[in-house]
Amino acid sequence: MLEAGMYQEKYRVDGKTAFITGGGRGIGLCAAHALAEAGARVIIADRDAEALRAGRQTLIDLGHRSVEAMVLDVTNVGDVGRAADTWNATFGSVDILVANAGIAWPDTGGEEMPDEAWRTVIDVNLNGVFWSCREFGRHMLGRGHGAIVTVGSMSGLISNRPQRQAHYNAAKAGVHHLTRSLAAEWAPRGVRVNSVAPGYIDTAMSGSGLRGEIGKLWLNDTPMQRGGRPDEIASVILFLATDAASLLTGSVIVADAGFTIW
Ligand code: NDP
Repeated sequence: MLEAGMYQEKYRVDGKTAFITGGGRGIGLCAAHALAEAGARVIIADRDAEALRAGRQTLIDLGHRSVEAMVLDVTNVGDVGRAADTWNATFGSVDILVANAGIAWPDTGGEEMPDEAWRTVIDVNLNGVFWSCREFGRHMLGRGHGAIVTVGSMSGLISNRPQRQAHYNAAKAGVHHLTRSLAAEWAPRGVRVNSVAPGYIDTAMSGSGLRGEIGKLWLNDTPMQRGGRPDEIASVILFLATDAASLLTGSVIVADAGFTIW
């Protein structure tokens, strides 16, 4: 039962292939770095070709050799399906999916929310996560193993203030429950599905807010009195993707500097 080195082993993903959406920068890029450091071949996908190019170069400069990159918009279900088919065929399997691509804003009151703003945020943040889980999950179910990590948000648990973002909050709550629903369906077939729910993280999405006037309000509501770094979310993603999390499925791990305590 107890073996020397067994815990180090649990946190490794040697020989596995990981596909990360929104992987060109921010949390997605850090997740790719974390998974690559733990031994995985990584494929970063992003709709932003320039971010993708720079992100891939960053990973290579960090010493990672097995880094692929593809332009992909997760709202295009056909393209997501083709990506899943292609990479599974190329590498034999995609063992880990990080469904991370997401957008936030604009700050819009519910009563004046433009149709387009609602549709766009739901399309990327909820539909895109579902297409990714379904298309990559099918292959995992066929092989009887796989680990999916979705990126939700504390906004799926609380309603942020002072910004008004019903579209974003609703989409992230949807991601959490989608995660639990797929986890329940797929658990007997060897595929684990978990989520991380970050608080305010210093990336392109929230960095300027954290350093601006609104950030003072956010940090005042945060027990740790600071925002998070993207690598602090990548650590959780790595954990959920590895055998160290072998008993976890349908979990939503909140990593928010304590924001949701208050
Ligand atoms: P970033 O904006 O830094 O990175 C997100 C990446 O996803 C960008 O490169 C973006 O490209 C890409 N992307 C957006 N839409 C699509 C799409 N349709 N298809 C493919 N790629 C897309 O943000 P973060 O790293 O901070 O966010 C990552 C995830 O973490 C998101 O799901 C976000 O909601 C979640 N999160 C972030 C928090 C934060 O405070 N930063 C807090 C809680 C959750 P483009 O430049 O074209 O938009």
